[in-house]
This record gives sequence, C-alpha cells and structure tokens, in this order.
Amino acid sequence: MILIDGKKAAAELRAELKEEVAELKSKHNKVPGLTVILIGDLTPSQIYVRNKEKSANEVGLKSEVIKYPDSVEEKTVLEKIQELNSDETVSGILVQLPLPKHIDKQKVIEAIDPSKDVDGFHPMNVGNLSSGYESSIPCTPLGCYLLIKKIEPNLSGKKAVVVGRSNLNGKPMTQLLLKENCTVTITHSKTKDLKAECLEADIIVAAVGIPELVRGDWVKKDAIVIDVGINKTDNGIVGDVHFDEVSKNAKALTPVPGGVGPMTIACLLKNTINCFKRSQI
Ligand code: NAP
Repeated sequence: MILIDGKKAAAELRAELKEEVAELKSKHNKVPGLTVILIGDLTPSQIYVRNKEKSANEVGLKSEVIKYPDSVEEKTVLEKIQELNSDETVSGILVQLPLPKHIDKQKVIEAIDPSKDVDGFHPMNVGNLSSGYESSIPCTPLGCYLLIKKIEPNLSGKKAVVVGRSNLNGKPMTQLLLKENCTVTITHSKTKDLKAECLEADIIVAAVGIPELVRGDWVKKDAIVIDVGINKTDNGIVGDVHFDEVSKNAKALTPVPGGVGPMTIACLLKNTINCFKRSQI
C-alpha cells in the first residue's frame, strides 16, 4: 500500500511556490499578499492562523493577521473587508471560520471581492467551479485533488465516491472529480447503504467528521482512499477512515495526521499566488 505523504507533498508544493513568488517579485517588483481576519480566541482557529502565517512567510508572501475580539460588531468586519478589497497590496483575503453567532457568515463571505476570495467560498467562485470555469477552489478539496493526481494522473472514467456534502469539502471535491471525468457519487447522512456505495469506488474521499466510519470491508482492493476527517478521540486524533483496516485493502491511503491537513495550507498559498497573478493581467 502507498502511504500518501501529505507533509512531503506540501513541502514540495511550498518549494515550487517559493520559486514562483521569487519570479513574480523580479517581474512585478512586488509579492502577493495574504490577509487573514481572525475573530475571537478559539484555540484551533488561532493555531490554524499561526500556521497559515508561518507558511506564507516561508514562501515569501506578504502576510498580515487582523485580530478582533469575539464581541466585534459585524459592521466593523464588513467595513474592514471593503477596505481590504480596495487595497492593491492585498491579493487574498481569508476570514477564519467559525465566526461568533452574531456575525452572519454568508454576509461576510459575500463581502469579499471574489477575485480575492482565497477560500473559494464566494458564490461566484462556487458557480465558476461548478461551471468548469477558472475560480478559486476551496483549499482542502484542492489539496485532496492534488494528492489523488500524484497517485493516478489519469482519472478519466474512474468511479469516485465522496462521503459528505459540505460546501467546504464534499461539494467542491465532487466538482473537481467531475472535471477529471470521474463518475461521481456524492453520499451523505441520508444515504441508504454507504458501504455498498463505497465498495463500488476506485476513489473514496471521506469528509464526514465521524471517527473511523469507513471500514476495511467497505473498500475495494486497489482503491485510492483520501481521509479528510480530523476527529479528537480518547486515543488521539483519528480520521474518518479506519486506518489499520483500510490500509490492508487500499492501493493508497492518506494518514491522519500528515495527509490532507498539510496540503490545505499549501493550497491556500497557491490560491493567494493565483489571485495575485490574475490581478496582474
Ligand atoms: P460537515 O460540514 O459537518 O459535513 C459533514 C458531512 O458528512 C455532511 O454532508 C453530512 O451529511 C455527512 N454525514 C454525516 N454523517 C454521515 C454518515 N453517517 N454517513 C454519510 N455521511 C454522513 O463537515 P466538514 O466541514 O466537511 O468536515 C468533515 C471533516 O473534515 C471533519 O472531521 C473536519 O474536522 C475535517 N476537516 C479537515 C480539514 C483538513 O484540512 N484536513 C479541513 C476541513 C475539515 P448531511 O449533509 O446529510 O448532514
């Protein structure tokens, strides 16, 4: 079985991006800039944002974090986004989710200029992705896609099963696989026989949030299995896939941690650079 090393793939991607940033700097005499808005003091969000900033600096991007307390008014955040939308030194804007309850997530997402939407959550980017046009692609599914392509460059005609239909993961993942001419089944909590669906798949992407849901006898020999899940349990962090069981059957499998996670941040940097490049045309 191939253990898909997301840490290594992410390090390789960051090295490529670092070179690209250096080239862009010599061509345009400026570098892409990423601004992250962090609201509140949720520990996981703070850790994510710190890692994003560290990785952005590593590849040579200009990076900035704007912090607000939990009590910040929605209006203040929306005004800041407007300011960043018209700031030429800002190529990408990301508002770290989740947001406090009094702030309307959809309003915030829609306030971001779609050309600076490095998360790919703006309805215009969602629509572009599903129409097959150029768009910012949500970072986690983009990372999964790049890992799958490393194992199997030609996905045409493959049967893919995506477990979970969130806007963050399942839906954009489905679009990316469709674009590669896979036959895609998207499953969710109301799916009748998930095991039977998974058993048909050449590629399984699990993004559910249920520890070790996908079992060894759900997976066809030689399937590629991508585990997006990050679940805290008494035995530590585990994915949505039962690693020990599935590793006996699958052709390739991502570990948790060290699989999809590192690729997510690298893809955020890639999206920021792409936003910058599009703004220079
Ligand atoms: P989410 O928004 O909670 O969506 C979960 C999806 O799973 C929903 O579509 C839900 O179906 C479906 N589901 C729930 N129970 C199911 C079942 N028994 N069988 C089949 N489908 C079921 O989750 P998310 O934001 O996509 O995140 C999923 C996991 O990925 C979480 O563990 C999260 O921590 C992790 N994650 C990892 C990264 C990373 O960088 N690696 C990034 C983001 C998220 P319904 O739509 O019917 O409710």
